[in-house]
Amino acid sequence: MLDVRSLGTILGVWAHPDDEAFLTAGLMAAARDAGQRVVVVTATHGEHGTTDPAGWPPDRLGRIRALELAASLAALEVREHRHLGHPDGSLARQHQLQAIDELAAIVEDVQPDTIVTFGPDGLTGHEDHQTVSAWAGTARAASAPQARLLFATTTESFVRRWAHVHDRLNVFLADGLPLRTPDADVALTLDLSGADADRKLVALRAHASQTAGMLATIGADTLREWWSVETFLDADRTPLPQRRGADAGAAAVPGWGTWQLVG
Ligand SMILES: [Zn+2]
Repeated sequence: MLDVRSLGTILGVWAHPDDEAFLTAGLMAAARDAGQRVVVVTATHGEHGTTDPAGWPPDRLGRIRALELAASLAALEVREHRHLGHPDGSLARQHQLQAIDELAAIVEDVQPDTIVTFGPDGLTGHEDHQTVSAWAGTARAASAPQARLLFATTTESFVRRWAHVHDRLNVFLADGLPLRTPDADVALTLDLSGADADRKLVALRAHASQTAGMLATIGADTLREWWSVETFLDADRTPLPQRRGADAGAAAVPGWGTWQLVG
């Protein structure tokens, strides 16, 4: 099992503001507390992450989400953020080599010891997540092949414990998700409690355009507990878990970058 302190400089590569908080707030805070450098890359502003685009047009929501991201990272003492500037929901339709080159230049500049991102499943099944995962793997190969590559994942116990929440929130967009990664394949687990879980809740609350509805539906205590365990696969050392369910990859996914309520 890895220790956060062994991960050195960490570069997180994500699609939308809030991905980094849900999946790595605890990891980033622990690394920063230990004096490590943490840099977050976000591909989009998540400007389509709303069910009310008339009230929250993309320009307005994108500006708000950039501010929310800054506030969330500040709570974790993460001071370095890079933005790739792609439109929300568009990553698979961008010029792939150009997008990878831009990310690879950041990887070259940061020289991370560890890159953390989504697995090829995209964790929630969102196409932007899947695309940015592929970009991160290719950019690492080009610019920092020695860097460790971690994929955020979910486990059998997570799936079982939170089934009642997953029934109420349409977070997982494809059949077979969330993944049931065997515990033996998990390379790093952070089990957050007390002040660490509180701090993650602050980071999640900062993404208010995305989490306020969730908080109203399930409450702060449940949100805090739901994402209190962060689990990661070592991309080079473990077979990727398969999604369950027929034709899981073919499921249609919405084009917005958010973790939405069912309704
Ligand atoms: Zn996302």
